[in-house]
Amino acid sequence: MNTGNDKRYYDLKRYFHEQFGCRVYKLQIDAGFTCPNRDGTIARGGCFYCDGRFSRLRQAGPLPSVTEQLRSGKELYRRMRGATKFIAYFQTATNTYGPYDHLKALYDEALAVEDMVGIAVGTRPDVIADDVIDLFQSYVEEGRHVWVEYGLQSMHDRTLRTINRGHDLQTFLNTVKRTTGRGIHICVHIILGLPGESRDDMLATARLLSTLPIDGIKIHLLLALAGTRAGRLFSEGKLPMMTKDDYVNTVVDILEILPPGMVIQRLTADGYRDVFLAPEWAKNKLAVLNAVDAELERRDTFQGAAYDENALNTDGGMTAPSFIHR
Ligand code: SF4
Repeated sequence: MNTGNDKRYYDLKRYFHEQFGCRVYKLQIDAGFTCPNRDGTIARGGCFYCDGRFSRLRQAGPLPSVTEQLRSGKELYRRMRGATKFIAYFQTATNTYGPYDHLKALYDEALAVEDMVGIAVGTRPDVIADDVIDLFQSYVEEGRHVWVEYGLQSMHDRTLRTINRGHDLQTFLNTVKRTTGRGIHICVHIILGLPGESRDDMLATARLLSTLPIDGIKIHLLLALAGTRAGRLFSEGKLPMMTKDDYVNTVVDILEILPPGMVIQRLTADGYRDVFLAPEWAKNKLAVLNAVDAELERRDTFQGAAYDENALNTDGGMTAPSFIHR
């Protein structure tokens, strides 16, 4: 099948072509969720890099309904790309933070919109109840395509404390275990360039993820944004940022470590232009992606080239979770 894609890594475009025979577009939704790491339930102030402004839509005024957001997203992609299939992506804030009935009503509303083949739900690993995981499984059993995206950012508890994540590695591992074996696709978000992390630390996170039953990954870069602790430290000259070369080389190292079948959903990061402080090079996302492709070519390597299914990370005395089965 021609996916129009000759990447040396397994990207989302190719994955969707293999699953659905065509390109599928993820439509971002802001369903009005907040975050327990900002409202004081877990902590106040949020993560080190988060400015808490959530989506542009929310800043513009009252939020349109989930249905309205999906309809206008569909129309746009239909007109621009001739798109026919979509995934409703609950992206903004913590999208499993609320009472079960409220969550179910929102997900059901999204799935009722014509041409939605499934949902993707972004959340924290410490804010997803068993009955919500059961609900996701019930959608899978109805033939829907379901992704849950867990923010981990780093496997190192010392880093998670530094960036005020409010959860630890073990919580993430337990939640992956609770989600596994139900037909739900798991995607994990990580961030490169977090304070105090060496390249070895970042590769250790990738190595751990390579041993878990995880289907996809989003790799982000730490950005310094105004209104965040990261932004303040950067402005005070106390937060070194990754160089483009460092970032690209680390991404390629990580791609080599990850299993060949793990879907690479993202390889860089962006932020609102009006609060963006650094690193300057990250503003050009296409240049970053091209540089990753060029480095893969230069090394004549590819995703999975250094994948070792028996690789277990012993950093911090961690032992292998019992459900590792890749
Ligand atoms: S969990 Fe997400 S929304 Fe909540 S503070 Fe962290 S980055 Fe912001």
